[in-house]
Amino acid sequence: MNASCQCGAVSFKTPTPKPLALYICHCHDCQLQTSSAFGTSAIFPRFPLPDAELLSCYKRATSLGQTLYCYFCKQCGTRLIHSTPEKNVVAVKGGCIEGLDWRTAIHIWTKSAMVPIPEGSEAYSEDSSHTDYGSVQEELDQPIGLRG
Ligand SMILES: [Zn+2]
Ligand SMILES: [Zn+2]
Repeated sequence: MNASCQCGAVSFKTPTPKPLALYICHCHDCQLQTSSAFGTSAIFPRFPLPDAELLSCYKRATSLGQTLYCYFCKQCGTRLIHSTPEKNVVAVKGGCIEGLDWRTAIHIWTKSAMVPIPEGSEAYSEDSSHTDYGSVQEELDQPIGLRG
């Protein structure tokens, strides 16, 4: 799938034609990270960072004691990829990908949702313990289920 930042300086192809999973997270952390109503994570097998010289990185510690690397375009600030060195999957931020099928997205932390959840969606008021990818954003960004 084609992906790019808002200004177009960074563009790349995802390593597979569709994500392993797609999450829409309504937690407060995602609302802060996106300055919006929710965050999105499209989980893909790890692939080389695109245009690394055009990216900046915000790093933070996770509750699991690892470091989450949050890559964004130096020029326009679009958050593009979240990863941790230990994992063999990465989270591409969904809004920068063309052609995702959002009907399949799993909604989590709906108890703090700012917008209505589409009827018929798979949704969880808090964590997503029914999924393979963990319960909070930082776990989505470093899924345990597919650890190599
Ligand atoms: Zn950009
Ligand atoms: Zn979240």
